[in-house]
Amino acid sequence: MNEIKLFCPASVANVSCGFDVLGFCLDRIGDEMVIRKTFKKGIQILKIDGQNLPLETMNNVAGVAGLALLKAHPVGFGFEIEINKGIKAGSGIGSSAASAAGAVFGINELLGRPFTRKELIQFAMKGEELASGVPHADNVAPVLLGGFTLVRSSKEPDVIGLPTPTQLYATVLHPKIELKTSDARAVLKKNILLEKAIEQWGNLAALVSALYTNDYGLIGRSLVDVVVEPHRSALIPGFHDLKEAAIQTGALGSGISGSGPSMFALSKGKETAVLVGEAMSKSFESYSIEFELHISKINPEGIHIISSK
Ligand code: ADP
Repeated sequence: MNEIKLFCPASVANVSCGFDVLGFCLDRIGDEMVIRKTFKKGIQILKIDGQNLPLETMNNVAGVAGLALLKAHPVGFGFEIEINKGIKAGSGIGSSAASAAGAVFGINELLGRPFTRKELIQFAMKGEELASGVPHADNVAPVLLGGFTLVRSSKEPDVIGLPTPTQLYATVLHPKIELKTSDARAVLKKNILLEKAIEQWGNLAALVSALYTNDYGLIGRSLVDVVVEPHRSALIPGFHDLKEAAIQTGALGSGISGSGPSMFALSKGKETAVLVGEAMSKSFESYSIEFELHISKINPEGIHIISSK
């Protein structure tokens, strides 16, 4: 195999009570990436369609993640990459993660799979470090493993794939405003009250349990964030109206996707997810801010190969 074409999906990190540890993979919303073997060593980013992003290898998350893999598995040739961005950078649905995960997944396939999908997470995290300053796995893990994932530790990456209830659908509204991850981080408090911590870990543990037992009611009761959302929601226009509209229309729960500005809602069944999308759109129209709406099944497979030759 000399060339591979991939679909690199978008993802939702944090998922309310799972700040920095939980994430899930979206379906059909994502980037396409072509990776080819070349005689020239190293990695070249040949072109990026759909968005103005850096082509220099060390300034692009795909380049940095790919080079991290090649450092662990040196070879006598190199790779060139073309990316067609479907996910806008800074949207809060894992734009950088899709490229970082895509690069390491594709190179690994072209090398005959020296690493497992789980082992690829550590390399993709190097790309995330370039994008946000922190080597986090909560977006790259669901992209590489599919479904829901839990990051027990990102120091010595320890990631657990969680089961995905089959009727779970996400509705994602992406307001087309810029919200810098650094600004979204700046509003966070360094300390939290013990009573808030207890509420948060109770909800996170219950959500994980609900994913194992297909308990949609418990998923709904657990999608509560008392630590981050109260501070970050102030940065998202219409946040409370959108959340209210989603819940009133039957969503199990709703919150900020990643560091925002996108918001997600989870629903049981596609029909409800579509109705929730209509209600969220209607609610957001009064803010006169352009937006995109996505309805997506939780993608159990993650990143996948479109073609190869
Ligand atoms: P999101 O909020 O959608 O997860 P991130 O904030 O994680 O997006 O990543 C966006 C940042 O990463 C931007 O500063 C962008 O310039 C940088 N970046 C570098 N390479 C890429 C790439 N291939 N795809 C997306 N973003 C990239």
